[in-house]
Amino acid sequence: MGNFDPIQIREDFPIYTNSELPLVYLDNAATTQRPQAVLDELNRYYTEFNANVHRAVYSFGEKATAVYEDSRQTIADFIGADNTSIIFTSGTTESINLVAYAWARNNLTSEDEILVTEMEHHSNLVPWQLAAKATRASLKYIPFNEDGSLDLEDPDKYFTAKTKFVAVTHQSNVLGTINPVKDIVRMAHDVGAVTLVDGAQWVPHGRTDMQDIDCDFYAFSGHKMLGPTGIGILYGKPEMLEKMQPFQGGGEMIKSVTMEQATWNDIPYKFEAGTPNIAQAIGLGAAVKYIQGIGLDVIQNHGRDLTKYAIKKLTQMDSIKIHGNQHDRGPVISFEVTGVHPHDLAQFLDQDGIAIRAGQLCAQPIMDKLGVFATNRASFYIYNNEQDINKFCESIEKTARIFA
Ligand code: PMP
Repeated sequence: MGNFDPIQIREDFPIYTNSELPLVYLDNAATTQRPQAVLDELNRYYTEFNANVHRAVYSFGEKATAVYEDSRQTIADFIGADNTSIIFTSGTTESINLVAYAWARNNLTSEDEILVTEMEHHSNLVPWQLAAKATRASLKYIPFNEDGSLDLEDPDKYFTAKTKFVAVTHQSNVLGTINPVKDIVRMAHDVGAVTLVDGAQWVPHGRTDMQDIDCDFYAFSGHKMLGPTGIGILYGKPEMLEKMQPFQGGGEMIKSVTMEQATWNDIPYKFEAGTPNIAQAIGLGAAVKYIQGIGLDVIQNHGRDLTKYAIKKLTQMDSIKIHGNQHDRGPVISFEVTGVHPHDLAQFLDQDGIAIRAGQLCAQPIMDKLGVFATNRASFYIYNNEQDINKFCESIEKTARIFA
């Protein structure tokens, strides 16, 4: 793993330095830990220049606005976008709902089809079910194969003249599959459809370039990439955002208001109604800088190495089934241990100080397709190392012996 040292990285994370137990945190796909640099930035805002943004004329109010807008610029640069196309939301879920309300409800009819995939998180499925109901559009989906890849052999089956909107996850939170989103966006654009990519799982782990992917919308969350909770991003192509109606009304999203009507502020402010999550937005800028300090290529290679190592160890054990077997997968492994209920496994591992996920992973349709009620999931990030995986595998073997 080159010069990159997860043990040294842990020094930056108070949860590791404060923990009495040796912490084996393997639930990063649910949320990551936060480095001191992010916590310091939150604290700096609250203690040094706490004020509302875009409103105050006094100096520390101007500073709050400047730092908030600097953070937007940092995030825009991080994903190769213009800062006018970066909307602060509370997270991926709100970003997707913004598009489902402000775009889909105003542009879809009963003649149209919304195309999703069978491997979506509920946050990129339920908003489209609701939008389909509201507009009477039909909801179609691309299935996935046994190996966790999308069935794209005959795209004409799914991308038709009726397809008006396509929503797809960049990386599956269950199967770890990294989808060919650039190709999917091209297929969608070829039939004249608008596209949204759910980047909640991908953005923390690899380079993301809006110019290259060319999607119309892209959503991700701060808390899965070392940032605070309560903050996320919706990227939208400026020409799409310009044409859209607002999602929520109030605060700084207006240009002028009379008793009868209102006109809208410029993008992105048109979509930021009310006092935004200022501290969290500033904290996300610090998280992006921290990630850039390590380097996304280093992070991606580390994730790949750990995933390969974990898959090798797990496949050497009896009674383990891993869902999906994509070689080019993100650092997410969902698996079953024969004879052990996923919740029991997670509880037994917890007794050894190991945190993994158990349940339906907010993806019930995937569980149905896999034919399981629930599953276990281990997911890795920069502070994890091979020792963590050794402990995890030893604890699984110990638990499996108890249930044998
Ligand atoms: N999409 C995917 C693929 C996810 O993994 C998640 C979070 N588990 C979400 C969307 C929703 O993200 P959030 O809860 O931060 O809104």
